[in-house]
Amino acid sequence: MNNYFIILASGQSKRFNSKNPKQFNIYKNKPLFKHSVDKALKSKLFKKIIIVVNNKKLIKEKFNKNVLIIKGGKERSDSSLIALKFIKKFKPANVLIHDAARPNFTLKLLKTLIKFLKKHKAVVPAIKSKDSIKYKIKNQLFNLNRNNSILTQTPQAFKFKDLYDLSIKEKNIITDEATLFIENNKKVKFISGENFNNKITFKEDIEVKKIFYGIGFDVHRLVKNKKLYLGGVKIPFHSGLKGHSDGDVILHSVIDSILGAIRKKDIGTFFPDNSNKFKNIRSSKMLKPIIQILENNNFYINNLDINLICEQPKVTRYRDKIVKSLSSLLNLDKNLINLKGKTVEKLGLIGKEKAIACEVICSISE
Ligand code: ZN
Repeated sequence: MNNYFIILASGQSKRFNSKNPKQFNIYKNKPLFKHSVDKALKSKLFKKIIIVVNNKKLIKEKFNKNVLIIKGGKERSDSSLIALKFIKKFKPANVLIHDAARPNFTLKLLKTLIKFLKKHKAVVPAIKSKDSIKYKIKNQLFNLNRNNSILTQTPQAFKFKDLYDLSIKEKNIITDEATLFIENNKKVKFISGENFNNKITFKEDIEVKKIFYGIGFDVHRLVKNKKLYLGGVKIPFHSGLKGHSDGDVILHSVIDSILGAIRKKDIGTFFPDNSNKFKNIRSSKMLKPIIQILENNNFYINNLDINLICEQPKVTRYRDKIVKSLSSLLNLDKNLINLKGKTVEKLGLIGKEKAIACEVICSISE
């Protein structure tokens, strides 16, 4: 195992609109460059991992002694050559060169690259383009045949000596090491890259989607001579839920959970129970304007989890119907709605079938 891993993190990231170079922005809970370091360490495939940066002070993390940080050069190819010269003294057999802006490669890819180095001097992952590419020659636009074109990725793997010799000789600025081999008529073995191993280029690439949560709770007394509605479904039962409206505890809790997530107070603010306007209103009608607010604010529901707390009726009998009803009322895929039944061991008012309660948690995103 005489492998070395070079991570190039000295780019200027001109297209990335941020104070710090993008490699040091937080992505999935850690600095972008650290994903590559952690994966290389986890793979246990490398004797040393070299991080090439413009400014060593940008790295605040402490790594073990096999992770070395060095200062790079002006261009990518300068940094790459500086790193190759630096590791020469260790007499490496193989070297992988990687852009810190690609945090999503897998350990499997690292293993495959190194495996292929047994028979090849240069191994490069590549994928087919999803988009059609045009190119321009003297003001004329040509379509690049998608079947004949590939997009190269990193890490790229090389026999150290071959890459070193070519790099020392090269006078031009090159975009990556694969180009160096190709331009010198040296063979490159292309292997399947990974579609998700994309390069973080723009700030939007690492912006995380915001998630908000809301909680809802409701309880109503059961009374004779009233129809029982749960989640908008009429359910045959000895009693119904007492309330200003139809007393649908599920819909009321759902409404409160959504209002919680969008931070718009509570159900009583929208439907005061001293207003005659809402007397005997069906709760599905109360839900509609709340969904409207949710959508007008460009939010959408990720999922709903519901606990219906009662001895009777049994949730298992009505689960599908209630979930289907909620799915249609909320315009939400039924796989994103979960309904659980919970009894209270015959304790208290709920246990004696004098009341039904419900709690809901709702997650939404922008
Ligand atoms: Zn209620």
